[in-house]
Amino acid sequence: MKQIKICHLYGNLLNTYGDVGNVMAFAHEARKNGYEVEIETISIADYFDAEKYDFVFFGGGQDYEQRIVQTDLLEKREQLSKYIEKGGVFLAICGGYQLLGQYYYDAYNKKIEGLNIFNHYTVNQENGNRFTGAIKIKDYNNGQLYEGFENHGGVTYLSENQKAFGKVIEGNGNNGSDTTEGFRYKNTIGTYLHGPLLARNEDLCKELFNISINKNFDN
Ligand code: GLN
Repeated sequence: MKQIKICHLYGNLLNTYGDVGNVMAFAHEARKNGYEVEIETISIADYFDAEKYDFVFFGGGQDYEQRIVQTDLLEKREQLSKYIEKGGVFLAICGGYQLLGQYYYDAYNKKIEGLNIFNHYTVNQENGNRFTGAIKIKDYNNGQLYEGFENHGGVTYLSENQKAFGKVIEGNGNNGSDTTEGFRYKNTIGTYLHGPLLARNEDLCKELFNISINKNFDN
């Protein structure tokens, strides 16, 4: 039987608002298409061989857990960076998305180092403000509308060479001011959309699944 291997990165630590639902939705799509699915949680001190996965998922979390994973994450940097460059399918939500960038200043204004694979950076909002509630965005690649739920104290700014994932139609997205939401690079998406995103937006789930099986990495 054909096989799909999914990696849930730090699934035991970073998994707020049902983010594991993204893994479940992806696995469901794979099974529907006749694949046998293997899901592995890779966490602190676990050996990470990114190449063996068809889909890597990195969820959101509280500042506390983000701080716990930051050092270990750096040990997985090279593997992740290679996986991303060769076009592996990678989805990072909220806290995971923040950690792919340069840094995140948390609610106490303490710096958490990111992976620095991408240039975006995240600072906290004044007076402990958070962006919470429904969010709707329009995918910059194909014009599709996606909906989800956001809850973040961090505000993220993309660098000039980063392309946003979507344009904010409702809600706040990256920072509440420039209408950008998340980023997309090759087959990596970073986004603030909890939901879970892939469960609530089936077309996106299908798109990512199809890329993962076709290994259509020429983008
Ligand atoms: N702790 C981060 C923030 O508040 C991420 C939150 C999340 O992943 N939901 O911005």
